[in-house]
Amino acid sequence: MKTAEIAQRYLDFFEKNDHLIVPSASLVSDDPSLLFTVAGMVPMIPYLTGVVPAPHPRIADVQKCIRTNDIEEVGRTARHGTFFQMLGNWSFGDYFKEGAIRYAWELLTSSESDGGLGFDEKDLWVTVYETDDEAEAIWRDIIGLKPERIQRLGRADNYWNTGQPGPGGPDSEIFFDRGPAYGKDGGPAVDDTRFLEIWNLVFMQDFIENIRGKTEFDIVGELPMKNIDTGMGLERVAFLKQGVENMYESDQVRPVLDRAVELSGRRYGVQHEDDVRFRVVADHVRSSLMLLSDGVRPSNEGRGYILRRLMRRTVRSMRLLGVDEPVFPELFAASRDVMKTTYPELEKDWSVLSASAFAEEETFRRTLVAGSTILDLALDETKKGGGKTLSGPEAFLLHDTYGFPIDLTLEVAEEAGLEVDRTAFDTLMQEQRQRAKDDARNRKRQLADVSVYRDLRALGETGFDGYTALEVESRVI
Ligand code: ATP
Ligand code: MG
Ligand code: MG
Ligand code: MG
Repeated sequence: MKTAEIAQRYLDFFEKNDHLIVPSASLVSDDPSLLFTVAGMVPMIPYLTGVVPAPHPRIADVQKCIRTNDIEEVGRTARHGTFFQMLGNWSFGDYFKEGAIRYAWELLTSSESDGGLGFDEKDLWVTVYETDDEAEAIWRDIIGLKPERIQRLGRADNYWNTGQPGPGGPDSEIFFDRGPAYGKDGGPAVDDTRFLEIWNLVFMQDFIENIRGKTEFDIVGELPMKNIDTGMGLERVAFLKQGVENMYESDQVRPVLDRAVELSGRRYGVQHEDDVRFRVVADHVRSSLMLLSDGVRPSNEGRGYILRRLMRRTVRSMRLLGVDEPVFPELFAASRDVMKTTYPELEKDWSVLSASAFAEEETFRRTLVAGSTILDLALDETKKGGGKTLSGPEAFLLHDTYGFPIDLTLEVAEEAGLEVDRTAFDTLMQEQRQRAKDDARNRKRQLADVSVYRDLRALGETGFDGYTALEVESRVI
């Protein structure tokens, strides 16, 4: 079953059950506290809070999402993409726990010939919030799930909130058991690799206040209007249904991976670190393409910095796979070709999107050539001298003079088994900012050649904005 078909089955099912089907919102969220749309519920916030009346009490959609806080997991777990599509259904004061659970179960377990997803009940497990007797009873008594297949977990796993005073609520998650070859027995409470989370059902029922931490807050009352918010990972369902090992091998991602393999002349499935890189490339190319398509352009701040980082990691990963030539023309086209069925704008806007992507690759290639040689030398010298840490001034020189990004220095140093004196680097960065402020006028006058100035700006100031941005984002999820 192709990814697009799974999405269609999902929408058909909820449409049949009186949901209004709405198109995906942009990856660029309207919510100023979020960089990106990180979940299907983000565009639904005005309806969930009641600020804007929902156009229909039941809505369903397929929402494009970006989660940069999962970036370190990409390629290493089977299930984390920086871009993915979340299937979601909502009830605004309409059906509640029983309805949400019944719908989810019916869609997952009815046969493919009946329009369902055809999962075998024997492979499914669920979790509920530790005090949510009601949800547990629905799974046990109405759905008929064996009690040992229902596990109770605490706030960290099964309680949703925004981190702000306001709505919150327990959730119930559905997991697929991939079998003993993938990890320990004992259910999702024990092993989240073998037991793969596919669907999260959030029961928004509480009003929470006095937030002291992610799991430290007080439940002070009930919401006047109780809502349902669910999210299912389309790529996760796709790879399970397609019988492949991970989401990067599912039909909308694999063609990019294959193209990367061809370009490298290496093979997939032989060497673990290479495989991770192929998967990172496949993921990041698609995420970059989808971000470009929603109007983000590579830059040194905020969203643009995230896009730049995804693109630069792609180039770096391909170089580590032995490819020094430009790769974006091939890889982006491969992603466009497979994604355009669902997102026809990718083809329509191709000339603009591709021009931006290809230019970014060129800029970064120039930076890399200059910086890598110097960094390798510095790392060699450090090692020879018996040191374990690349000094702050050296990292700063690379950044300041050669425009070599600090995140890359950290990565390369780590690969060489060395650390970087980050504190000293940060101090030098601070000092540089101050200096820059002080002689802003002077500098502009000296840099008569505008293109040089632009390049310097393009290469400088990496790292920090991005990290702050990532923190902002993960806080809200
Ligand atoms: P996990 O614990 O596996 O990281 P999550 O609990 O963070 O998932 P939710 O926030 O509950 O995920 O999102 C709802 C659904 O979206 C998940 O059940 C999963 O199917 C899917 N999903 C979440 N993050 C990703 C991702 N990075 N890539 C692909 N699918 C994802
Ligand atoms: Mg997660
Ligand atoms: Mg989870
Ligand atoms: Mg979850």
